[in-house]
Amino acid sequence: MKYDIIIIGGGASGLCTAIMSKTETNTILIIDHEERVGRKILSTGNGKCNLTNRFCKVELFSANPEGIYPYYPEHNRAFAEKVIGRFDCDRTIAFFRDLGMLLEDKNGYIYPRSEQASSVLDALRFRCEELGVETLLNYQPIKITRENGCFRIDEEYSCQLLVLATGGMSAPKTGSDGSGYEIARSFGHSIIPPIPSLCALRCNDPFFRELAGVRNDSTVTLLDGKKQPLMEVSGNVQFNDHGVSGIPVFQISSIAGRMLKERKQISLRIDLLPEYSMEELADFLDQKKERMLQGILHKKLANVVEKEADKKTDHQDVTPGALRAMIIKKFKVHPIGLNPFSESQVTAGGVCVEEICPDSCESKLVDNLYFTGEIIDINGICGGYNLQWAWASAHTVAESLKARL
Ligand SMILES: Cc1cc2nc3c(=O)[nH]c(=O)nc-3n(C[C@H](O)[C@H](O)[C@H](O)COP(=O)(O)OP(=O)(O)OC[C@H]3O[C@@H](n4cnc5c(N)ncnc54)[C@H](O)[C@@H]3O)c2cc1C
Repeated sequence: MKYDIIIIGGGASGLCTAIMSKTETNTILIIDHEERVGRKILSTGNGKCNLTNRFCKVELFSANPEGIYPYYPEHNRAFAEKVIGRFDCDRTIAFFRDLGMLLEDKNGYIYPRSEQASSVLDALRFRCEELGVETLLNYQPIKITRENGCFRIDEEYSCQLLVLATGGMSAPKTGSDGSGYEIARSFGHSIIPPIPSLCALRCNDPFFRELAGVRNDSTVTLLDGKKQPLMEVSGNVQFNDHGVSGIPVFQISSIAGRMLKERKQISLRIDLLPEYSMEELADFLDQKKERMLQGILHKKLANVVEKEADKKTDHQDVTPGALRAMIIKKFKVHPIGLNPFSESQVTAGGVCVEEICPDSCESKLVDNLYFTGEIIDINGICGGYNLQWAWASAHTVAESLKARL
């Protein structure tokens, strides 16, 4: 069977590419090795799908309004900025309204009004059907070759334009098992080694078993080997028996993971009571004298802080309140690894952006071969930035595909 366009991968980005590039005359086939398209979309945003973010506008990229952390990692930010510059949050909202959806804005985080991720998947699926996009499910392409300007898939399917939208390696149960990287490699592309991102950090400090189950609103700072701060994020930190989790940890995980992979030393400084200054806290604690930490922190955390205070025999010159305030404001944990891909939301790494044209997302190595979504070495922070990347890169690809036919 011959098609104008074949898209391998029917996830967020593949479905969106199909919708945006379909015309009355062209023919499009989506191939997916799962038994249904878009499975990952269903688990996004805790089942509610945080589909974009108001802050994801190109003019806000370099001057982050909160001034605390980058939306996309430094090495590929310029590429992401270019692509999202053509299709930002406002255009995503307009796109989904055009698919018949109502959305709601929760402090800049955009969700379907139905609060169901399935609404997003259904809107994409139904529009594909209406437009006449064909879908081939439960099919894993084995051999893809290029002959006489045409791509051939297992001698059964052929197309003029091929799009790889196979995602990364996170949550492989939803279909993104990394097999798309092999297809990219077969066309000569380099893959930046994939690592899990937006995931918990495993730490080797002795107190984690004791802290399992504790949640605490904190400010987390990622420090390098010289104790220089690299990134700071506030939010609810969750302690478990082997490390730390929660949104602030997720936001830090991409950079922390890359540094751990490069065997660089890192640590986290957690301010367990960010709303109080060190002096305020020390004064307050010193006034209490007895049971200083009672009613201040979760009991399990208070016990660990007390034990850490007992270990600090070299701090005789400070008051007991000041010592405890220092531990609370600068609680140190030492990450040694990341949670696995199966427990990560997104993959850092993928097809090297230097081999992809940012104006079209077409391969610089093979004409008419395109990449979209998470397969590319672009990953964003938590909060709608990764789906925004999926929609925006789909738009860039679709504009180029339409111009080619
Ligand atoms: C639990 C969880 C929650 C998340 N929540 C959010 C959120 O709220 N907001 C947000 O912005 N992002 C979120 N993300 C991230 C977001 O879902 C992804 O970044 C996005 O889905 C990537 O889209 P994609 O189309 O590139 O890849 P995917 O959605 O992973 O789709 C890839 C598709 O390709 C298919 N495929 C793979 N290999 C092959 C092959 N060889 N042959 C045929 N088919 C293949 C797969 O079956 C799959 O259907 C979340 C991720 C997870 C895991």
